[in-house]
Amino acid sequence: MHNLCAQPVAMRRKIRDNWIQIFMRLPGGPPEEGSVELHHRAEDELWMREAIAEARKAEAIGEVPIGAVVVRDGLVIGRGHNRRELLLDCTAHAEMLAIREASESIGAWRLLDCTLYVTLEPCPMCAGAIVQGRVKRVVYGTPDPKAGCAGTLMNLLQEPRFNHEAELTSGVLQTECAGLLTEFFRKLRRQKKSAT
Ligand SMILES: [Zn+2]
Repeated sequence: MHNLCAQPVAMRRKIRDNWIQIFMRLPGGPPEEGSVELHHRAEDELWMREAIAEARKAEAIGEVPIGAVVVRDGLVIGRGHNRRELLLDCTAHAEMLAIREASESIGAWRLLDCTLYVTLEPCPMCAGAIVQGRVKRVVYGTPDPKAGCAGTLMNLLQEPRFNHEAELTSGVLQTECAGLLTEFFRKLRRQKKSAT
């Protein structure tokens, strides 16, 4: 049995609290009660924080900090953080590991009603796995100018010639997601400099 991050009731409460905090900060004042768009934004931020927590696990073991979670019906069913160096495996990206765990959790390779949250825009391999797994929706934090295949270099997630297209939202908690990476590489450069 996989670790599920929270019970639905606790999660709903968390989503509601987050939602309240966000609308209190809006310059135009609180929106209409029950605004669907705002609710989705708060929920996306909530799950992106889980992906960020995964990225921090990668950082703690010296890997490039990228994290992902797969969510279905208000529950995390798969988690992953980049473990490329540790596993000596170029396919051990956060999304691949989260997708694999999600499929094991539900006993199916099709992730039809699932949303994948990832801190960095998916690369071609992960975008391929997302399409193959029929993931319904993808939410990413910050674009990847070197490998991003969800709109930056190309958009494999919404290619009409494929048999599946995913819904896509970008820029959720972008500052935090990008900050993890810039801080990681800054530290790395500093360490290299002091070693020479
Ligand atoms: Zn990837």
